[in-house]
Amino acid sequence: MEEGDFFGSGAPVSVLTAQPLDRFLDYKAPEGGCVLGAFVEVPLGPRKVLGVIWGPGSGGFDLSRLRAVNRVLDVAPMGADMRAFLQRAGEYTLTPLHAMLRLATRAPGLSDPPSMRKIYRRGTGTPDRQTDARRRVLATLEDYGDLSFTMGELADMAGVTNSVIKGLVKQGVVREEAAPRDVPFARLDPEYGGKALTEDQEAGAAQLRAGVQTGRYGTTLLRGVTGSGKTEVYLEAVAECLRKGRQALVLLPEIALTAEFLTRVEARFGAKPAEWHSGVTMTERRRTWKMVGAGGAQMVIGARSALFLPYRDLGLIVVDEEHDTSYKQEDGVLYNARDMAVLRAALCEAQVVLASATPSLESWTNAELGKYSKLELTSRYGASVLPEMRAIDMRAEKLPASHWISPTLKAAVDARIAKGEQALLFINRRGYAPVTICRACGHQIGCDSCDARMVEHRFLKRLMCHQCGETKPMPEACPSCEVEGKLAPVGPGVERLAEEAKELWPEARQAVLSSDLFGSARALKESIEAIAQGGADIIIGTQLVAKGHNFPLLTLVGVIDADLGLQGSDLRAAERTFQLMRQVAGRAGRSERAGLALLQTFQPEHPVIRAILSGDETGFWRAEADERRHAVVPPFGRMAGIILSGSDVSQVFDLGNALARNAGALKAIGADVYGPAPAPIARVRGRHRVRLLVKADKSAPLQAALAQWVGQFRLKGDLRLAVDIDPQNF
Ligand code: ADP
Ligand code: ZN
Repeated sequence: MEEGDFFGSGAPVSVLTAQPLDRFLDYKAPEGGCVLGAFVEVPLGPRKVLGVIWGPGSGGFDLSRLRAVNRVLDVAPMGADMRAFLQRAGEYTLTPLHAMLRLATRAPGLSDPPSMRKIYRRGTGTPDRQTDARRRVLATLEDYGDLSFTMGELADMAGVTNSVIKGLVKQGVVREEAAPRDVPFARLDPEYGGKALTEDQEAGAAQLRAGVQTGRYGTTLLRGVTGSGKTEVYLEAVAECLRKGRQALVLLPEIALTAEFLTRVEARFGAKPAEWHSGVTMTERRRTWKMVGAGGAQMVIGARSALFLPYRDLGLIVVDEEHDTSYKQEDGVLYNARDMAVLRAALCEAQVVLASATPSLESWTNAELGKYSKLELTSRYGASVLPEMRAIDMRAEKLPASHWISPTLKAAVDARIAKGEQALLFINRRGYAPVTICRACGHQIGCDSCDARMVEHRFLKRLMCHQCGETKPMPEACPSCEVEGKLAPVGPGVERLAEEAKELWPEARQAVLSSDLFGSARALKESIEAIAQGGADIIIGTQLVAKGHNFPLLTLVGVIDADLGLQGSDLRAAERTFQLMRQVAGRAGRSERAGLALLQTFQPEHPVIRAILSGDETGFWRAEADERRHAVVPPFGRMAGIILSGSDVSQVFDLGNALARNAGALKAIGADVYGPAPAPIARVRGRHRVRLLVKADKSAPLQAALAQWVGQFRLKGDLRLAVDIDPQNF
């Protein structure tokens, strides 16, 4: 411990709480003192709130009037690196520190006394009467004498009912004890189940291991085609990190991928790691939070918010599918987990591995500039080869109105089904039809509270807004002209495509994969497993299938509308389309059967479509980089979006105009301000949204200028202002 890290009883301390106050609070250290970073409970008015000892008291106050910290919580103190991380991440995203602390304490009951549960162990003596069931219980306890079981676990393992165990407890043959609930996770063994790596993979693993061995910060971009063994390779970096006794974090972009990943981790390390995402129960969340701090969790796999856990000694962060846009948190604190991972690692001397088949332009550029190390796996593992990719020129295809599967694509699917292989039809649109239009008056049904169309979901028999999630029944009559029976779907969604496929292949077994069709992560997992086992002939899916899943029988991918992402003015459209198409195509031919990807397009000569087909990634990224460099946008310039919202549209615009007129702080650093203009989604949940965009040079002190700029304004009424550093859309 450093000097000054301990505060004796009664010493003034300054405490950070998660309450929306823009200052620290001063207290007296509790009886027995406390360390810097300690989690404490402090009185605040009539309430008791959670806080962290952030430093010595600020001084200039009357010591006798200070209230004392109630108590120090029974959890590990927050380390200096974590405190620095919250501070720096808050400064970067212009988020107040109390909001950062809230992000870091998202586990229930942290201030509760340690919770206990009942466990069962072998007692003394023998039962008054032996039965098979009783014998099995005792045998189980004797076999695993050093482990403790809950009633349910013991009953399961012995194959008996709870009442058998209760009977034995009554006789003292089995003992009931209280044990803490928040116990360490099973040990992971880095030497447990390593695979023999190929020469390429081994070279990559060696590079990553060497990075981990330095014990210093470093970031590596691990590029490799889908199926090349990126996961196998970065698990070797995890193994090295475990050998050094440091903790490892693996971020995944999608909860649906965790089940498959957990299985792989267990096969490699002999036990399951801790999990952190919205599908984890509250008690398990608390256990993970505490064990991460206490060092009882060696490895965490999770969603982006797992970055904000209070690791005791984090040595490695893997960001899998690092290009994935779901790493950007678009609600509350706006941050990109990929960038925050790099910051977190820099502050705790950890290594970062960014893995992707199609890296983001940001990471690609950083690797080209030498800020990140590069590592590339160029071929698929084993006999499998990358799928061949071809365009289907839709201008030359003849198909009836409201149909989307071209004769060429149909023939290719026919051929796969005949061979007992699987075909995937991909469309990146949920629901039945994106637009519902009245054929009498032309009215399109929109959401009442958002600037968005309602999407028909036929399986749910409702219309749904994809912005706010609001649903309503499909009306009989047009809400505008009141004529009945004239509402018609326009355009395809995944459900409508499934209907067309049913027409074309009535005998084929279909699986439709779209996030809204599954009630739970488990249902989705089961469906994915069934497909992998060959339980479907045709898979019809949205973006959900593009990510990571391994379907050995899948040999054909048909992209229904490859042009979909190319419309609009978004500068990132090309990058997104390129990544998505390569990613989807990568689902085909992952075993020894050759794969084929067919892209239906009306513009086969479009440069992005041509780049996708040729697979000339380097060429594509260079061209993209040139364009962005020319426009001085990320990663070659800095950008921020200011989103203003409120219920009164004219007030929102007035504020936007006032900001634009008083932009001296930004002019001073040479930044440009664009807008105000309606935000990409101009109305959400009844609130109008207006956006200003700020563009600055790479080296400009953007955050400080932004803080000064927006700090000039007091927000009236229900007006809100959010700063989005590095916005996803521009
Ligand atoms: P990626 O992460 O690049 O998509 P994976 O690591 O998932 O690739 O590997 C693809 C498949 O090949 C997986 O089923 C994986 O278990 C298998 N595989 C890769 N490398 C090896 C190896 N050296 N030995 C055995 N199986 C391997
Ligand atoms: Zn809505």
